[in-house]
This record gives sequence, structure tokens and C-alpha cells, in this order.
Amino acid sequence: MEDCIFCKIRVGEIPSTKLYEDEDFMIIKDINPVAKIHLIAIPNEHYATLEMQTEEGARVLGKILNKIGDLADGLGLENGYRLVINQGEDAGQTVHHLHIHIMGGEKLKNM
Ligand code: 5GP
Ligand code: ZN
Repeated sequence: MEDCIFCKIRVGEIPSTKLYEDEDFMIIKDINPVAKIHLIAIPNEHYATLEMQTEEGARVLGKILNKIGDLADGLGLENGYRLVINQGEDAGQTVHHLHIHIMGGEKLKNM
């Protein structure tokens, strides 16, 4: 997708701090962190919201959740973390390429 920040980050057109990358997704540092550790897991495939994802997209989302569990300690999240997906207007989604926020590294406020 031409105008998508995350697609541009994936191909290196926009710089980022990538902490993990494989053939299906990457984990980068959020440029505007709202927690001591704030990362974003981004599938390679471009789709805006959950209802637009394919079966393949669902497989990758499952893989991401699994991998976050594996990587958490190494990312400084050994004490716990919060995952968030903002979907659409009401949630304040600003980048329309589905992604999972990973927040932690400190005691987070109760939801
Ligand atoms: P959303 O509001 O769509 O759930 O989250 C988009 C996130 O992407 C925001 O937390 C924002 O800080 C982050 N973001 C926007 N532009 C960039 C960028 O160029 N680089 C990185 N690393 N994060 C970005
Ligand atoms: Zn995209």
C-alpha cells in the first residue's frame, strides 16, 4: 500500500527500530511511547481492520501472539504486558494497517 506508514517501514523507506522480524511480521518500537516499553507488532500483509483480514491473516495473528509470549522476557516484559488493537474511529486508530500494541516495562494504569 503506497501511503501506508507501516508498509513503508517494512521495506525500509521509513526508518524504525526493529526488534524482531520474520517472513510474516515485525516488532518495532512505537515512535510515541505511552508506556516505558511500547512496541508494535505489525503483520506484513496490509489490511486495515480485523474484519478485512484473510484466513492467512488470522494464521499470522495467531503466530504473533505465540511469538510475543516467547519473546516477552527478552524484550523486558518479564513482569507482564498489555496488548491492544485499536479498531476504527471510536478506538482512535490512526494507522490503517492492523497492528498490535505491546505495552509494559512498568506498572500500567488499570483499564
Ligand atoms: P493506532 O493509533 O493506529 O492504534 O497506532 C498507531 C501507532 O503508530 C501510534 O502509537 C503511533 O505512535 C505509531 N506510529 C505512527 N507513525 C510511526 C512511525 O513512523 N514510526 C513508528 N515506529 N511508530 C509510528
Ligand atoms: Zn500497510
